[in-house]
Amino acid sequence: MKMYDLIEKKKRGKKLTAREIEFIVSEYTSGSIPDYQMSAFLMAVCFRGMDRAETLALTKSMRDSGDRLDLSYLEGKAADKHSTGGVGDKTSLIVCPIAASLGLKIAKMSGRGLGHTGGTIDKLEAIDGFKTTLSPEEFSSQVKEIGIAIVGQSGSLAPADKKIYALRDLTATVDSVPLIASSIMSKKLAAGADVIVLDVKVGSGAFMKTKKDAEALAAEMVGIGRGCGKKVRAVISNMDVPLGSAIGNALEVAEAVKILKGETGGDLLKLCLELAANMVSLSRGIPIEEARVLARESVASGEALRVFRRWMQAQGAKDLSFIDHPDQLCPALREKTVFANGSGYLTAMNAETIGKAAALLGAGRETLEDRIDPSAGILLCKKTGDFVSEGEALAILKTSSCNSFEEAQAQFLSALKFGKAKPKEKPLIYGIV
Ligand code: URA
Repeated sequence: MKMYDLIEKKKRGKKLTAREIEFIVSEYTSGSIPDYQMSAFLMAVCFRGMDRAETLALTKSMRDSGDRLDLSYLEGKAADKHSTGGVGDKTSLIVCPIAASLGLKIAKMSGRGLGHTGGTIDKLEAIDGFKTTLSPEEFSSQVKEIGIAIVGQSGSLAPADKKIYALRDLTATVDSVPLIASSIMSKKLAAGADVIVLDVKVGSGAFMKTKKDAEALAAEMVGIGRGCGKKVRAVISNMDVPLGSAIGNALEVAEAVKILKGETGGDLLKLCLELAANMVSLSRGIPIEEARVLARESVASGEALRVFRRWMQAQGAKDLSFIDHPDQLCPALREKTVFANGSGYLTAMNAETIGKAAALLGAGRETLEDRIDPSAGILLCKKTGDFVSEGEALAILKTSSCNSFEEAQAQFLSALKFGKAKPKEKPLIYGIV
């Protein structure tokens, strides 16, 4: 088999066999296929696409390129969730304790944030002492004992995806449904859960800018998961507006704690309950309505918060007082309130631009080597649909690492649109696949 012929075949829009795809993945991972040929192949996939059988073969080849976790030692269903990434998305910190409090086993690997989106591991590292690396023995005994452990993505899981994703990032070949679906699912499948709930985001702060594209990605990922014998569901959710009110690592942990304590709600709580309910419904084989009630009760009774506290303690958090006083977690050295200079309805806020403003304050990174300021970020005082009077606070910008607020403030304000009429409310959840 020659890579040249396979590039040519895909360029002409022909279907590749599973053997041909396995060849490409294994030879590229081992270094026998050079970057320039793989780049040409990826670009051909971007233009010509792949059908379900090809995407499934690509996923399986990447899944099998490294270690695969065996979670069969766990009593109870191992469940996982994945978000395609958004701004203010701290759902894992809330959904996972709810699911664990209802008997599910969460043995989860999460990533770091890049660009305008945040990552769960960065958020957890805002908690002093929290260990994002555990030995295999620590990891399994923690999941067995308290039902939850979340660690950083191991480099030995799906190494082919790691190499291919890095190349896609440099060659403008990220935005292809079969490439995104196979990349995400190869890692999820290698991580070993029986049940996987996907949160596919759509809107200005998401990879997928239209509902149609999000539905296509969701259908592809669900199809791949089921093709590999897993129970998979996708929730398609709105990412036109940041989720919740906090953007930035410590700020998002604090907001997650407040949700678990029942001190705040809104879009964030609603989405978390829906994601947790889908995990519970699939794992326990119960109707979704019943699972929704259980998820709500877990928060109302404080059970999810108790699991969160035990999880933090088990994974090394030095000082648990942030659970009682969330706003005291890693406070920023400087803050600046942004005030409205006119009155009207807030008709739109571009989530991606707000994510970039938070990154300018130190909350995000451009390359994986950049250091994050855990205290940095933005607290939104107003969201799309709210009426704003002149002089009212729109947001509070926070940082300990940035000397001037000017650029971040300008970026933040450029994300907002105002008008005279209240905008039509968009759904938080567009559908379930
Ligand atoms: N996240 C991934 O892991 N892979 C992609 O291709 C896109 C987002």
